[in-house]
Amino acid sequence: MSKTGIIFDIKQLAVFDGPGIRTTVFMKGCPLRCKWCHNPEGLSFLPQLMVSTQGCDGCGRCKEVCPSPEHCTACGRCVVACPRHLRKICGTEYTAEALAKKLWKDERIFRMNGGGVTLSGGEPTAQWEFVLELLERLEGIHRAIETCGYCSWEIFAEILNRLDYIIMDIKLADPKKHKYWTGKSNERILANLEQLKCSKKPFTARIPLIPGVNDTKENLRMTAELLKYTDNLERLELLPYHKTAGAKYSMVNLEYAPRFDENQEVNAAVEIFERYEIPVRIL
Ligand code: SF4
Ligand code: SF4
Repeated sequence: MSKTGIIFDIKQLAVFDGPGIRTTVFMKGCPLRCKWCHNPEGLSFLPQLMVSTQGCDGCGRCKEVCPSPEHCTACGRCVVACPRHLRKICGTEYTAEALAKKLWKDERIFRMNGGGVTLSGGEPTAQWEFVLELLERLEGIHRAIETCGYCSWEIFAEILNRLDYIIMDIKLADPKKHKYWTGKSNERILANLEQLKCSKKPFTARIPLIPGVNDTKENLRMTAELLKYTDNLERLELLPYHKTAGAKYSMVNLEYAPRFDENQEVNAAVEIFERYEIPVRIL
């Protein structure tokens, strides 16, 4: 039987998620809890209700139809009832077979533009059984992943074998600081980075630059040390923090508590990486 996975978005015509024009599949669930996460709907592994508060006129239809007001079960009744379309269920179950079939429909576009499919999230390696089957079913299409690298060595190796391109986040080089800011130490991540470097598969490293957290000279220099002399590293991408990161938290009933100064200017010290001859671009 085909494995099932939970997807929260599928975006066609993506241009920043690997080579060419791509379809990006956003998978639900992440083992990390980065304080700056801008996709809070990707944290939970389960489908969940997402409510837009702007435009609500208080008509109360959502409450009238709700069978479980104390604890939302994502049944979707209020989604249908809301006349202003302010509610949606975030997270749809797919079999790997059905999703692959859907993605294959754009194969001609991928071929014309040197593009393909990118798995993102959330953290795609967390749904690894589904991902392995999906990647197998997509063989013949260029397959990429955007990952935080937090999974076992064995799973990472299996997934890597089925990929053409990898985008890997390196959030912080210091294990203790990594644990403080993301909820997990980075030992597994750094071990998987070494595995990736040895694999010879082409990859991009990404740093989401967070003011006062990982944009220090010390962290950027330590990250450059991790990435230096890596033949299969195509480039490093720096993604400066945006203050809009917290916008979606209330929609999934979460509180945004970043613990850093959002107003501080980010230090995108490109010269540190250039000194190590690492090609850099700021997104
Ligand atoms: S999805 Fe809506 S109707 Fe269903 S339990 Fe949650 S709040 Fe109630
Ligand atoms: S049904 Fe929609 S418009 Fe009416 S109270 Fe609920 S969210 Fe607001």
